Amino acid sequence: MLLRVHQQISDSCKDFHCKQAHFLCDQGGMVFVEDLDFRIMAKGMLDKHTLDAGFGQFLNQILPWVCWKRSVHFGKVNPNGTSQTCPDCGALVKKDLSVRIHHCLECGSTKPRDIASGEVIRNRGLSAVGHTVDQAVCGGVLAGAAMSSQVPVKQKPKS
Ligand SMILES: [Zn+2]
Repeated sequence: MLLRVHQQISDSCKDFHCKQAHFLCDQGGMVFVEDLDFRIMAKGMLDKHTLDAGFGQFLNQILPWVCWKRSVHFGKVNPNGTSQTCPDCGALVKKDLSVRIHHCLECGSTKPRDIASGEVIRNRGLSAVGHTVDQAVCGGVLAGAAMSSQVPVKQKPKS
């Protein structure tokens, strides 16, 4: 009985992840994620949420597979400092997890933290495939950054 309940949870979780993956593919021709090491994250403070949500499986299996099926480019980017970098000028903007707004003293850029780090990930992904950053191409909408508020964690805990 317990096993069956677990199986149902696992199935519906996968279904949720599949929907999220398709939602991301609906937003454009490219999807970029941070290349996170879940073995390291499992030792951090945010492990339970991350692992319970099957987030690693989502990023490493479900999302790449759905992208491949739908001919959407999938890329992983270096996760270092994505939450500490200004997406607009590249300056280092240090902030701990409690600071939810990115505010850059260099260029004045101010936006929600998750949007800012999402833009850094997008910029890195685009430069990896040889594109320059263009708001018109990206539509200025970051589906993944919006999604991160539903997924428990997207950043490596700072240690
Ligand atoms: Zn800046």
